[in-house]
Amino acid sequence: MTQDVYLSSGAIENVSAIFDQQNVRSVFVVADRTAYDLSGAKAKLVPALEGRECAFFDAFAPNPKYDDVMRGLHVWRDHPCDMVLAVGGGSAIDMAKLIGICSAHTCESVDLLTGLAPIEHAGPPLIAMPTTAGTGSEDTHFAVVYVDGQKYSVAHEFVLPNYAVVDSDLTANLPASITAHTGLDALSQAVESFWSVNATPTSQGFASEALTLVMANLEVAVHNPSPDVRLNMCKAAHLAGKAINISKTTAPHAISYTLTSHFGVPHGLAVALTLGPMLVYNYAVGADDCCHPEGVGPVHKGLHSLLSLFEVEAAQEAHERIEALIVAIGCPTRLGDVGVQTNADIDLLVQNVNTERLQNNPRMLSQDALRALLNNIR
Ligand code: NAD
Repeated sequence: MTQDVYLSSGAIENVSAIFDQQNVRSVFVVADRTAYDLSGAKAKLVPALEGRECAFFDAFAPNPKYDDVMRGLHVWRDHPCDMVLAVGGGSAIDMAKLIGICSAHTCESVDLLTGLAPIEHAGPPLIAMPTTAGTGSEDTHFAVVYVDGQKYSVAHEFVLPNYAVVDSDLTANLPASITAHTGLDALSQAVESFWSVNATPTSQGFASEALTLVMANLEVAVHNPSPDVRLNMCKAAHLAGKAINISKTTAPHAISYTLTSHFGVPHGLAVALTLGPMLVYNYAVGADDCCHPEGVGPVHKGLHSLLSLFEVEAAQEAHERIEALIVAIGCPTRLGDVGVQTNADIDLLVQNVNTERLQNNPRMLSQDALRALLNNIR
């Protein structure tokens, strides 16, 4: 499936033209309630939505859960529309993707979301309009959902939004903490995309641009944002999204989901907490524990390119650069600071690591190795 992308300050103005071109008479808006107002999207969308029938769904919390998706599906079935417009962070965009896919199938939605039933049909056309600069969900063919506390990734080319409208002005009022957390997601996606066993020259090209932009702009975006810096962070998130759309994410994401679902750690921070330690761990990959189908050669090549982007020579130095950035944007670097304190907490993280994401990591990560890594940063 192909996608049209509009990325600029003021990109939201393209929405009217998209509606006109596609002869859209009714719009199903899936919006993060807070973001819809604070980002300015609500006011700016008035001309585009005027004269069109609208249905709204905003009754959901961050990180889509099955019950919320079902509530959204119910609203959709009462008010099916010509097009879906998602406005918010990764949570709102994933929610819109999930409702759209479920709406196109007659099988049990739970089977679709947990991978028991295949995705066979595209949902209604979707415009994804992010109000955070981090997930790149507007550019990916997957959506994350929690079913009974368990994380599932719904992946299919039909999940990719038809339009990505990335307007950096919508991130102008982002609070510093959300800028920090979501920016760390873009950083992690760029780094992980480099070492993923699915990395290609194209995904590494996107990841390299994304990483350079994050390292140059994230700290300023948190403490002293300007329109240019916001635009650069939106570009970074968008490019990192394009990178993981090819490579998929790896161990830091695999570990993060329990940090979010059980300990309430915001997604981007949850991922970044293990990013530096995993860089050092992956750098020590050898022939005996390498998961890349072509052996250690391509892994070492990717990791060396990564170190040169960090302008360092050793993995430990890159780890320190990541840690320094996390501290500089006011975030913790220790698991103990986010509530992971006991041996039982560490066991919970080890036992619930997401094995699907772990398969993309270039170096095997046994339970003992993971426990040791987590204890090191407790
Ligand atoms: P989010 O969408 O969960 O939003 C976090 C908070 O930011 C919310 O409280 C929201 O109200 C607030 N917010 C958003 N925009 C705002 C704005 N402009 N002004 C003020 N407040 C605003 O956060 P996120 O980090 O963008 O998304 C995380 C979710 O995305 C997770 O569920 C994660 O699994 C998912 N994700 C999906 C993909 C994908 O490719 N599908 C990739 C990465 C992450």
